[in-house]
Amino acid sequence: MADVVFSSVSKRYGGVEVIPGLDLTIADGSFTVLVGPSGCGKSTLLRMIAGLEEVTGGTIHIGGDDVTVRDPSQRGIAMVFQSYALYPHMSVADNIGFGLKLAGVPRAEIAARVAEAAETLQLTHLLDRKPRQLSGGQRQRVAIGRAIVRKPKVFLFDEPLSNLDAALRAQMRVELAELHSRIGATMVYVTHDQVEAMTMADRIVVLNGGRIEQAGAPMDLYRHPATPFVAGFIGSPRMNFITGAEAAALGADLVGIRPEHLRPGVDGRWSGTVRHVEHLGAETLIYADVEAIGPVTAKVEGDLALAPGQAVRFGYDPANLHLFAAGRRLPAG
Ligand code: ADP
Ligand code: MG
Repeated sequence: MADVVFSSVSKRYGGVEVIPGLDLTIADGSFTVLVGPSGCGKSTLLRMIAGLEEVTGGTIHIGGDDVTVRDPSQRGIAMVFQSYALYPHMSVADNIGFGLKLAGVPRAEIAARVAEAAETLQLTHLLDRKPRQLSGGQRQRVAIGRAIVRKPKVFLFDEPLSNLDAALRAQMRVELAELHSRIGATMVYVTHDQVEAMTMADRIVVLNGGRIEQAGAPMDLYRHPATPFVAGFIGSPRMNFITGAEAAALGADLVGIRPEHLRPGVDGRWSGTVRHVEHLGAETLIYADVEAIGPVTAKVEGDLALAPGQAVRFGYDPANLHLFAAGRRLPAG
């Protein structure tokens, strides 16, 4: 049993309040992603779970134990950072087992645990290599291996894929999600990248200025964002927002519609002019200026033959509109 429970946790650096007082339960065995823009307090929260940062107020429990003032080594956690921090002169096997060696674990048990972790991470054939003989993705797997051998109750990841190129990031997303299904431990993963959050999490916690904007399953946040912030943060390309008279006509202060829900056609509500088109092969992105609402982005499947300067109309299914008033989602009418 290793849920992580924050109760009224606050954090100040000097006079600056970074986390105003946060309640959050991270379920046992979940893959929870804390996501938000740079500076919103993600690393601070993770480091408070790890015990690398003191809390200013409140308590943190892991698996029912109050760990608020406990030493990091006594919390049953292992952390993986963006910088892998491998020892360059040590082999992969020695890097993975180093923490166990420091902890005085017998040699035979270290060898067994390293072999098991290497198997899980497909590193078995690389155990004798030095870090410089590995690709970026393999190095990150070694860093994860170092965490796995400690058999932590909770894994903590702080933007572990940020140093990798796009293709490797996509591959490591899949590997991490599969690792989680295999070992079933609680994983808390911090990122500013909503794609990582959407693809890996079973629960996403969206943070903004040290506060929780919304927490829920990825597709719940996509379908029913509670606030304009979440609506704009989750989904790519970003949701289009409409204000003013056109929003009022639709019954809200602010109306959101995702690019994939704008339908170019001859009979849509909104008329405008194409400004730019991106042909991605499987889909086409249309950037247009719409008279009633301003610049919009639309995404359609397939290759659409549209050119800048061309007139275009956009329609939508009313079920795909997101209506907000006073900063909150309006109940579906
Ligand atoms: P994130 O990981 O979401 O980018 P952080 O948790 O690192 O954000 O930082 C949250 C806020 O706390 C930021 O405004 C940052 O400048 C501030 N902060 C972080 N660490 C310190 C520190 N050691 N001293 C003072 N301010 C800090
Ligand atoms: Mg950070």
